[in-house]
Amino acid sequence: MLIHWFRRDLRLRDNTALIAAAHAAGGAVVPVFIFDDAILSGRFASPARTQFLLDCLAALDAELRTLGLYLVVRRGEPLSELIALLRETGATGVTWNRDYTPYAIRRDRAIKQSLRAAGYSTHSYKDLVIFEMDEVVTAEGRPYTVYTPYAKRWRARLATEPVRVQEMSGLATIPLPPSKPIPRLTELFPDAPAELPRFPAGEAVALAALDHFVRGPLIDYAQGRDRLAAAGTSRLSPYLRMGVLSPRQCLSAALNAPPGPGPESWIGELIWRDFYIQVLYHFPHALRGSFKPVYDRIAWPNDPTLFAAWQQGQTGYPIVDAAMRQLQREGWMHNRARMIVASFLTKDLLVDWRWGERHFMHLLLDGDPAANNGGWQWAAGTGTDAQPYFRIFNPVSQGQKFDPDGAYVRRYVPELARVPARYIHEPHTMPLAEQIRAGVQIGRDYPAPIVDHATQRKRALELYRAVTHDNPSAERYA
Ligand code: FAD
Repeated sequence: MLIHWFRRDLRLRDNTALIAAAHAAGGAVVPVFIFDDAILSGRFASPARTQFLLDCLAALDAELRTLGLYLVVRRGEPLSELIALLRETGATGVTWNRDYTPYAIRRDRAIKQSLRAAGYSTHSYKDLVIFEMDEVVTAEGRPYTVYTPYAKRWRARLATEPVRVQEMSGLATIPLPPSKPIPRLTELFPDAPAELPRFPAGEAVALAALDHFVRGPLIDYAQGRDRLAAAGTSRLSPYLRMGVLSPRQCLSAALNAPPGPGPESWIGELIWRDFYIQVLYHFPHALRGSFKPVYDRIAWPNDPTLFAAWQQGQTGYPIVDAAMRQLQREGWMHNRARMIVASFLTKDLLVDWRWGERHFMHLLLDGDPAANNGGWQWAAGTGTDAQPYFRIFNPVSQGQKFDPDGAYVRRYVPELARVPARYIHEPHTMPLAEQIRAGVQIGRDYPAPIVDHATQRKRALELYRAVTHDNPSAERYA
């Protein structure tokens, strides 16, 4: 008998370690999830994401019950909980799927050592990514720090190593040790807000969402992905975050779709996912500071009032406000919008990207240390193959380009619902008579811009130049 320790692989299908455990133990596998207080109280803790986790666990438990099993839930320090479970069940070892954050690596290494020293077997598997940390490296064996060559090598490897999706896990119905009930959110976060975004959980729902996406929006993804108001992207990120879907299931669905620019560019996004996971693995300093350390010297003004206006979607820039309110309402934000608000926070409001990173981690259901850190450092121009810091998004023209009729803004900023399309991204330029007709007075019902984009753009460039000025190699990671 073996224990399978679920972490961010909350599914029965195509679960590499679970299937291997079932195979090795003739189906006799104890399915276990442990609430780890170190994560629940960490700096990226999130009541919203934890609620989604609880929903995913309930769905996994329900699925296990159809097999005459259930999810064995414990809370505490993972090593001692695993040892207690090994003793209770008489299992001979533990399996898990590897995770690659600095915390997960430290924890898993220590657990592996202790369990082996105590005479138990441990087996960990590649599952979270298509290609692992040392599988896509330069000819000299070094990690890539630039996406494009990484993606090229990744695709070349895929051509020689086809993706394989495994079906159900082959679990046998065996007696299980007692489980604690899946806790309520308030037991874990006593101060959690009563109203949190909910996202449909469960493997069947996630697979249906993948199927729907592949049959529809995927075909036009290359264009549709940038239309803010449309359902042009998959919205599968919360499932990929918790492992309700595997990246192989997604990749294989895209590879089996009729070939074209849509599937091609979507596969490119799955490569970004692997890319940022391996960046954080090889360069763990990026989790606390700039990937290119010179940018840690930027003297961010960090005005808390401006930061609060950004968080609340009250900046007077409709595209930014719509996006920030989408985040609050849904626990998710469109990728184009994430780029716009991240650029705005750093380059217009001159707030340290780490403040934004933390706010995102607090609210995003898909909040992932690697993808989020990579996205923020990309936008701030401090990261891997960042857009250079001097390329600064204009929030008005971004809105006009990616939400031309203002449907996205109207959906999330109801004050502006009746503003004509020609003013929707610059409502403060509406003549008073027009404001009255649209039922919104700028400065009273909706803020005038809290900063002037042109002025702030200059200030941002000065801040960045001040640290790169004496340092021509600053653009390199060294
Ligand atoms: P799709 O367009 O359908 O893409 C499919 C999948 O590919 C996504 O579900 C996701 O798993 C992966 N993916 C897509 N784009 C990226 C990317 N740039 N980097 C890494 N993986 C990607 N993504 C997260 O999963 N978690 C985060 O915490 C996160 N934070 C971000 C912060 C910023 C500032 C930015 C600019 C981007 C961030 N992203 C993050 C990447 C991206 O915005 C989301 O993955 C995407 O919007 C999720 O929507 P989707 O599932 O419809 O994506």
